[in-house]
Amino acid sequence: MQQQTARIKIAVQKSGRLTDHSLELLSRCGLSYSKGRDQLICYGENMPVDVLLVRDDDIPSLVQEDICDLGIVGLNVVEEYRLGIGTADASAVFRQVSLLDFGHCRLSFGVPDGTSFEGSVSLAGKRIATSYPRILKDYLQREGVDATVVEFSGAVEIAPSLGKADLICDLVSSGSTLRANQLYEAQTILESRAALIQTPVQVPEEKAVWIKRLLQRIEGVQQVRESKYIVLHAPRSALDAIRALLPGSEAPTIMPLDGRDDKVALHAVCRENVFWETLEQLKEAGASSILVLPVEKMLA
Ligand code: ATP
Ligand code: ZN
Repeated sequence: MQQQTARIKIAVQKSGRLTDHSLELLSRCGLSYSKGRDQLICYGENMPVDVLLVRDDDIPSLVQEDICDLGIVGLNVVEEYRLGIGTADASAVFRQVSLLDFGHCRLSFGVPDGTSFEGSVSLAGKRIATSYPRILKDYLQREGVDATVVEFSGAVEIAPSLGKADLICDLVSSGSTLRANQLYEAQTILESRAALIQTPVQVPEEKAVWIKRLLQRIEGVQQVRESKYIVLHAPRSALDAIRALLPGSEAPTIMPLDGRDDKVALHAVCRENVFWETLEQLKEAGASSILVLPVEKMLA
């Protein structure tokens, strides 16, 4: 049995837009844990890693206060929290270890249809409803705009029709919520996506080893999503042209083909998706027997 103190705690949103992606990421890192969505803690069964399921707004403070070692949360929530505690010593907050490839959205002004918007001048003297008062106030201050920030904890998009605000500043991804409320997206003030944050506190060695391993696996999972393994036959004379066509690849492996001096086999990992157009160009350049294979796992 591991000592309680040696176990890593990672805070993940309990129920919301980041939950499935976050849990899937941890599963792909090889973590299996006791399930049960009503639980606050899921105990890792094959690694000393436990998952704490909480509201996303609680994740930055749990990590900053070292109650959790790691957390997965949107940059919008991170930024709102950071502005709340002041920026005197950024390193005492938490470390933002990496950006993740899900939870993409933006914090934008939503303006009622039929109302024009010309940047800062259109904000002056207005009432702006938002759930991100600190980010908005910081933006207004930097722009030198005097406007009233009306704080809403949810359903910000109905504020204009209720007469509580002239416009809103809210998270947008597809824009369908704005459209459904007769608003249009006028300007973005923050681009956001999920991020992995880490405690600012120095962790003991036995924990550090597992944290490093987990971070490396998360990196690997992210890289692998887009990566492809390409195998092809190429005339030696066309190798330079073919290598130049391979998207995002490092030095490929070149192997002789039995009984052929003029042709070789080329194997390469491409860190970007490989489209049909690339295959057609490779063929035109002289490649044959082209195979594109998915990559299951990767450790750089
Ligand atoms: P909680 O109950 O955990 O407080 P919540 O209602 O604050 O949940 P969600 O709506 O589940 O949060 O969104 C979680 C995160 O997902 C957001 O903070 C943001 O980073 C990201 N996100 C991605 N797209 C959107 C979107 N269209 N609207 C809101 N959030 C989005
Ligand atoms: Zn929340």
